[in-house]
Amino acid sequence: MALNYSQKVDGHVRAAAGTVSESATNRKFWFGLSRSVIDEIAENWHKTRHTYAAARQQHYFSAEFLMGRALLNNLTNLGRVEEASAAAADLGHNLVDVLEAENDAALGNGGLGRLAACFLDSAVTQNLPVTGYGLLYRYGLFRQEFQNGFQVEHPDPWREDGNPFTIRRNRQRLRVNFDDMIVQAIPYDMPITGYGTDNVGTLRLWKAEPLEEFDYDAFNSQRFTEAIIERERVNDICRVLYPNDTSYEGKKLRVRQQYFFTSASLQQMVNNYVTHHGEDLSDFAKYNSIQLNDTHPVLAIPELMRLLMDEHGMGWEQAWEIVTETFAYTNHTVLTEALETWEISIFQSMFWRIWEIIAEIDRRFRLDMAGRGLEQQVINRMAPVANGSVHMAWIACYASFSINGVAAIHSEIIKRDTLRDWSALWPEKFNNKTNGVTPRRWLRMINPGLSDLLTRLVGSDGWVTDLDGLKELRPYENDEKVLRELIDIKRANKVKFAEWIRERQGVEVDPDSIFDTQIKRLHEYKRQLLNALYILDLYFRIKDGERDVPKRTFVFGAKAAPGYVRAKAVIKLINTIGDLVNNDPDTRDIIRVVFIENYNVSPAEKIIPATDVSEQISLAGKEASGTGNMKFMMNGALTLGTMDGANVEIVDAVGEDNAYIFGVRVEGLDEAFAEYSPHQVYESVPGLKRVLDAFDDGTLDDHGTGMFHDLKNSILHGYGVHANDVYYVLGDFADYRETRDRMARDYFEDPMNWARMCWVNICESGRFSSDRTINDYATETWKLEPAPISATAAPLRERVVAAVKKVAPAKQSTAKKTTAKKTTAKKSTAKKTTAKKSTSETAPTEKAAAKKSAAKKTTAKKTTAKKSTGGKK
Ligand SMILES: *Cc1c(COP(=O)(O)O)cnc(C)c1O
Repeated sequence: MALNYSQKVDGHVRAAAGTVSESATNRKFWFGLSRSVIDEIAENWHKTRHTYAAARQQHYFSAEFLMGRALLNNLTNLGRVEEASAAAADLGHNLVDVLEAENDAALGNGGLGRLAACFLDSAVTQNLPVTGYGLLYRYGLFRQEFQNGFQVEHPDPWREDGNPFTIRRNRQRLRVNFDDMIVQAIPYDMPITGYGTDNVGTLRLWKAEPLEEFDYDAFNSQRFTEAIIERERVNDICRVLYPNDTSYEGKKLRVRQQYFFTSASLQQMVNNYVTHHGEDLSDFAKYNSIQLNDTHPVLAIPELMRLLMDEHGMGWEQAWEIVTETFAYTNHTVLTEALETWEISIFQSMFWRIWEIIAEIDRRFRLDMAGRGLEQQVINRMAPVANGSVHMAWIACYASFSINGVAAIHSEIIKRDTLRDWSALWPEKFNNKTNGVTPRRWLRMINPGLSDLLTRLVGSDGWVTDLDGLKELRPYENDEKVLRELIDIKRANKVKFAEWIRERQGVEVDPDSIFDTQIKRLHEYKRQLLNALYILDLYFRIKDGERDVPKRTFVFGAKAAPGYVRAKAVIKLINTIGDLVNNDPDTRDIIRVVFIENYNVSPAEKIIPATDVSEQISLAGKEASGTGNMKFMMNGALTLGTMDGANVEIVDAVGEDNAYIFGVRVEGLDEAFAEYSPHQVYESVPGLKRVLDAFDDGTLDDHGTGMFHDLKNSILHGYGVHANDVYYVLGDFADYRETRDRMARDYFEDPMNWARMCWVNICESGRFSSDRTINDYATETWKLEPAPISATAAPLRERVVAAVKKVAPAKQSTAKKTTAKKTTAKKSTAKKTTAKKSTSETAPTEKAAAKKSAAKKTTAKKTTAKKSTGGKK
């Protein structure tokens, strides 16, 4: 007799806990329930791996994957949330508490790592043969604690007592050779489930371990101590994720990490090629392509050269041709402090052969460029090796067939500025792929109230895999009943958040206040300081007797890199301002400041659905894209932001009337800075002097560290080579204050109009789904076709589409038809492109795949609607 869901879960929990489920801890229950998920997907995972192995595959190389928690995401994708909740209740547990027992997999710093995680979700949901490769860090991003308002860092041993979602594949281990050590690379695979598909993708995280034979020799000799030290040196490789976001640190261990995981990943790819396509590697690039997530994995370029030449006997020219057809590079930043350059000696001491190959790339590059008539000065500027350093971005630009930025404005800036020499030389390599976020985690999973409303109005959950479909709901912006529901949903989310934060940090917040949120890494260019100046100014205004100040809760979440002194000062500053306003009887019932400790993916999941105002206030030109802005938009928060990164495209999507935009534009920067005197602004903009003077006149206490004084100085005077206020905080202050004041008034003066604006944001968020981004990569860059493991998905999809058509409200029909038509049109163009390409330049398998896809075409782009039932396949 088949077991029902509860019985299966019971079995897994008992096995994990060694006791009856009713007396298992939440942590043990989490283990058991997680294992039942793995049990459920094991066969499909196996099938998917085998299906992908012989196909053209895409490999996503990234030093960071900010995955967050896995259990609820998997239950959501499998349509098991309700059953799991019932099973937990049957067995004496509360699913909510069980879920809280999971540690975040914080194997990333911020946006770059979270992007990689969203991409894997979108790739598998579209049945695309994409695999992620990274490092199994023992310690994820540090755990942040506040002591007296100062950030203190603690280690994050996230999988010390085991983790059901990272499965060791001992038999698939490989060796990575360094000149000073030989290391075993053990793959740990994390399953990536999609929504409405049987496919299960893989994130492969490599762990470094010492060689057994080595131990044996050394332990039985006088070199016992050395052997222990050697073991630890190997274990060191994966010990820690470097906690720097968009800033580069020249640590030798970091290069070792980079070489370790790229070498292991490439070896596996080459082995797989040989197994399925034979010893002749000429067609390697037809079956494999690699996306480099920033420059961190760029060592893969010389390493693939080495594998092709030294281990497979290929000549330089042929190997280089394959390399240049394999790699695509994503640039993530225009900040110069983030560009990786490594001293030659680091390469020479760890992998001489890789150094030789890089030197040869450099030599040939210089000849190549001279042959093209470039000036010596330009060649030196672009050369992979110069002034004793290896420039990783230049290697990436030279070897990659595609170079992309991550938002329209960012892609323009890198062409014009950061990578201008390269775009002058190879304009055709450059393209844009605006980032996106997965609507499974960032809407369906974290905001069940809103999800249910959307599903009811659409008539199916088709929007979960076709977020563009929400456009059809746009006409409800005039439907008062729907807007009231939206207001109620937001309010319920705010109440839930208030409970969560009371429980977590003992802070009281009022759900009837505006929740105004800035959550992201702490960095000067993101300008948390601007936000803090506003709050302090508002505090003084209230103290001065300003009436009718709208009630607000200012929410922050941010980690600062442990060595980033000024960023840590801003954290202390915000906490100190919080103490001031939260404890003053004149202000505490009007404004509150909450700083979420240890900001991470799982706190973001609680904060975002409860937020009204999304602060995206970076200096124009500095934020490559941002993805937090997209998560907020989907959940019905309005953007208060500058014309930077993806904010520009958000405004384009919703219209200027449905966002609050302020500040200097990129086009105006030169002019603004030409005349800029922070000191003059400080003297002339009302309120600013009072606010900045509070930094060091005794109003705000920095415990004698002098850090607030230094902050003020960095704004007003700067020091040494650092100019003052390089992020134009004072310059944008007046406009920010005016806009933010107006926004808060609008919220209370016309709640229905506010709700309408939120609705427009939700309905127009489709282009910020990572499904759209991944589809763009797959068709334009990767030339990748879906490889579903089962045919059952298609008919189900069609049923769903039919259901959508039937159920959707009649008055929607015009809007819907338009969208539908547009989509179809778009689709067929896209398909044409793919088809054309595959005939001209791609592999036989691809042609076959293209044929297959032609047959599938009809269903394909309804994609979207895929598996609506929420039921299981
Ligand atoms: C989305 C996300 C980010 C990126 O936020 P930005 O506002 O785009 O910088 C960083 N950290 C976490 C935990 C996230 O979920």
